[in-house]
Amino acid sequence: RPLKIKNIYKKITFSRRNENYGNLMAHQSVIKLFKHCDPDIFIFCFQIPHHCPFCKKEIISYLVPPCVVPSPLNENEKPKAYSIVIKPTNGSFMSDYQENDDLHIGITNLYGDVFNFDSVGVQKEKEGWDECACIVLIKDGSPSDEEKEWMKKWNKCLSSSLKDTQWTKERYDENQLNCYDYVIRMLSKIQGREMNKQDFVQDHILPTTKKVAKYLKLHKSILWSENGCHFQQSGQ
Ligand SMILES: [Zn+2]
Repeated sequence: RPLKIKNIYKKITFSRRNENYGNLMAHQSVIKLFKHCDPDIFIFCFQIPHHCPFCKKEIISYLVPPCVVPSPLNENEKPKAYSIVIKPTNGSFMSDYQENDDLHIGITNLYGDVFNFDSVGVQKEKEGWDECACIVLIKDGSPSDEEKEWMKKWNKCLSSSLKDTQWTKERYDENQLNCYDYVIRMLSKIQGREMNKQDFVQDHILPTTKKVAKYLKLHKSILWSENGCHFQQSGQ
């Protein structure tokens, strides 16, 4: 499935105002896009070429100047606070991930420490989640009244789960009681309403994994292209 350029483009205009914009533009593995000669052709690359790969002419000006395509992955930084975090059960998104591979999920506290449940039981991890997809549930800034209520219970719920006999390695079951059940249980407690597993996956997990899959596909298309550039028709 091709990327929805319109959505990306909206986000880029935002990221161009970001103060890290200069750093990102120089970064070798960050995806950039621009338009040169054809208003219908987006050109994606890691490094902005001197000559347009489409018309072969030297680039003097742009129809759309180079912008950064925001990555849906956290890159080499601690996960954000108050978030659901997702990573492949084995390996990493960038190097190993294939669509339909198993995913492992956790939930972060105020400090971005990840609480998660797997075959070793419940654990709190400060490392090992540097390249995950992060779904921020309470954003920085001004939380709503409801979010303030959640924040009061958030860290206490996660901390007390470490001692809860519900989340021992003996009780772990790949199908019946796994990392999803743990996160859903925590969120249900924090938000004070029961959450359904199917809705949770539908509403939170799938939209994010779809975004990641699209981004990884684009990354590979550039990597495997002959000239380091990948073309895409507008509106696709
Ligand atoms: Zn051109």
